[in-house]
Amino acid sequence: MNHHSADEVAHQFESIRRRIDAVERPWTDAVEITAVTKAFAPTVVDTAVEAGCTVIGENYAQDLLSKRAAIECLVPHRRPRVDFIGHLQSNKVRQLVGLVDRWCTIDRSSIAKEIANRAPGAEVLLQVNATGEENKGGCRPDDVAALQRQCVELGLVVAGLLAIGPTGLPAEDAAPGFRLVRSLVDDLGLAVCSMGMTGDLDVAVACGSTNVRIGSLLFGARPAPVHQEGDGRG
Ligand SMILES: *Cc1c(COP(=O)(O)O)cnc(C)c1O
Repeated sequence: MNHHSADEVAHQFESIRRRIDAVERPWTDAVEITAVTKAFAPTVVDTAVEAGCTVIGENYAQDLLSKRAAIECLVPHRRPRVDFIGHLQSNKVRQLVGLVDRWCTIDRSSIAKEIANRAPGAEVLLQVNATGEENKGGCRPDDVAALQRQCVELGLVVAGLLAIGPTGLPAEDAAPGFRLVRSLVDDLGLAVCSMGMTGDLDVAVACGSTNVRIGSLLFGARPAPVHQEGDGRG
């Protein structure tokens, strides 16, 4: 299945911007849009950049590696930031170093150690499981502070937290978890609160997201992932 054209993506990007701006929220911080390119062909990288996207998100190591050439051939000022937003296995970190700018799914000390070893001083987000679902990644909310300390001791730069809303429920049901995650971000003195996808972006922004991760609304329906090492949410 093909992704939308750059014109269509630019149009969607603008309308998502307007939707975000229309949400009433007490915070003044800006909301960044990560364009989730997972499962699309490598041509999606050029399309995203042409459409004005400055951050792309990828879930699967192999999928991201297949886009390496498309990313690396961009001149530096056009090169998007690359967020790794999928479940991360330690044995994949080595291959992704140099390609990933922000590791967004740190949820255990073993993966933090691996990143600190392979990419000293890297920027990370800690993933929080705010829904209690067993099949979902993320550390328990009670464990975030300790994980943050460990990451800082390892020399990593902890920019914020990431959370995913509950699977298979109406968007509104994500609100309690999202509010909890925003309060953790504030308590820990962090800046980035990455929450909200195509299905729950308005709720997430209303609950204090500073970074929504949008795939299908920008690029169209996603093909089934070829590589299955991810979290199965693709
Ligand atoms: C796939 C994915 C997204 C984007 O999903 P859409 O519903 O297509 O917007 C965002 N965040 C994560 C962690 C994802 O896996």
